[in-house]
Amino acid sequence: AKDEGRNRSIVFDPSMRSALEQRLELLRDVRAAIEADEFTLYYQPVIDLASNSIAGFEALMRWAHPEQGILTPDRFMPAFEDQDLSLKLGDVAFETALKQMRAWLDAGIEFGRVAVNISAAQFRSGRLAEEVQERLARWNVPCDRLTIEVTEHVYMGWASDVVSDTVRKLHAAGVMIALDDFGTGYASLANLRQFPIDRLKIDKGFVQNAEDAAIVKAVITLGSSMGMKVVAEGVEDREQLEALAAYGCDQVQGYHFSRPMPADKVPGFVDGFVG
Ligand code: C2E
Ligand code: CA
Ligand code: CA
Ligand code: CA
Repeated sequence: AKDEGRNRSIVFDPSMRSALEQRLELLRDVRAAIEADEFTLYYQPVIDLASNSIAGFEALMRWAHPEQGILTPDRFMPAFEDQDLSLKLGDVAFETALKQMRAWLDAGIEFGRVAVNISAAQFRSGRLAEEVQERLARWNVPCDRLTIEVTEHVYMGWASDVVSDTVRKLHAAGVMIALDDFGTGYASLANLRQFPIDRLKIDKGFVQNAEDAAIVKAVITLGSSMGMKVVAEGVEDREQLEALAAYGCDQVQGYHFSRPMPADKVPGFVDGFVG
């Protein structure tokens, strides 16, 4: 009876809000946080196995929340799904990454390439290729310093034509195109032939599951035979690394090398990296 009373008081708690209200509050908070400049990027190194060197860094969005500390995207995912906010966050990502690349270029830091993640909404204007090239020019960052990561879901989504047209233009300009989360959707290598893809990123779900070794091996073989470099994400231990190297994987990324780090830690990582 006591439990029942407690449950009842939770159910009727007037401070309990609906999922919709919580979502709206999060979107409102994110909007204010963008204005307050609380979004930033962390950088995770991508390692080239053949040369034992740093190929580049993936830029990953973080919310430096004044009370809750550094928040990862799982805490603000609805913002990436909101058309207006995902465009604003996309702007933040590009501007932050390019400004940072300019600073590293000026300081002579050998960061390789920086990969920026792109959401579906950013393709909607049909001008993404032009916008990206304008930004690169404005920051005086060479096109071949930038990689864009587009998920398999975006490629196969609402407007494959717009996406394919945009990535084709960017690829022609020298921006590298990576297909993210490969294997999590329904894209096959065959229908991806229409896109100029330079990098195939195997999702960490496959990399971390020993039972998926045959899939990982097959993706590496197929990707390589189609002229793409294959990147494995989520590499957490030596065993995974050795298996990937044995399969001929080109590049790896994961906690085994480093977690994503704030920009000010990158120069030290680059300096201290011994393959
Ligand atoms: P993603 O693009 O697939 O990025 C890889 C995720 O795996 C990152 O999570 C990274 O921190 C995490 N990771 C890397 N190595 C390891 C590892 O060894 N073990 C484990 N368990 N995880 C590892 P993060 O930073 O939380 O980002 C999650 C997702 O949020 C990203 O997945 C991406 O889809 C999205 N995202 C992040 N930044 C941006 C952005 O600027 N724009 C857009 N549109 N999406 C972003
Ligand atoms: Ca990514
Ligand atoms: Ca992934
Ligand atoms: Ca993902």
